[in-house]
Amino acid sequence: MEASPNTNKILQILTQTYPELPIPLKHRNAFELLIAVILSAQCTDARVNTVTPKLFPNDRPCAAADILKLGEDQVRKIIYPCGYYNSKTKAIMGCAHALLNKEVSSNFQELTALPGVGAKTAQVVQAQAFGIDAFPVDTHVHRVCNRLGLADSGKNRDKTERQVKATISQKHWSRLHLELIYHGRALCTARKPKCSECPLNKLCPSSEA
Ligand code: SF4
Repeated sequence: MEASPNTNKILQILTQTYPELPIPLKHRNAFELLIAVILSAQCTDARVNTVTPKLFPNDRPCAAADILKLGEDQVRKIIYPCGYYNSKTKAIMGCAHALLNKEVSSNFQELTALPGVGAKTAQVVQAQAFGIDAFPVDTHVHRVCNRLGLADSGKNRDKTERQVKATISQKHWSRLHLELIYHGRALCTARKPKCSECPLNKLCPSSEA
């Protein structure tokens, strides 16, 4: 796919529109972020942020040993509100075993070798815990990229990732991914995008304004 002729202008407007980009999932270290990202699958960040303080109750950042001490049954009980609690518990306990007395790695291959950690989770950890430019594609990123013409990938999120990475310089990836999440939540919502209020409506091929 060719880069959209509007790509640079779109990036510029997004950065002006979302100058502050707080990281949506609360965490105090890479391990807490990793667990929070696992919990966020098919669940809102807001809900994950109500659950993680119960999973990480100490005054200091949580480590793998704390999760192992808590035990599988207690973990399952705490994370129940996030949904998919059996598979998420399995992934969390698996990560805790794998990371006992170890630091979370910033390396993509090492991250995706952890139980339940796919490319999206690994890239969120790379971007938000380690400041590495990565482009994790969630539902908002996928939808907004396709509406804006930054991708043309149907339902294929992997293709969205490949197309954006092929046409946009890596130094923009992490920032762009957060901007697209914020834009997808605020204006370019799934059901009724607020095109008349959108600062990109003159550039967007999907604009209904
Ligand atoms: S103009 Fe509409 S479809 Fe395009 S990015 Fe803005 S809100 Fe989304």
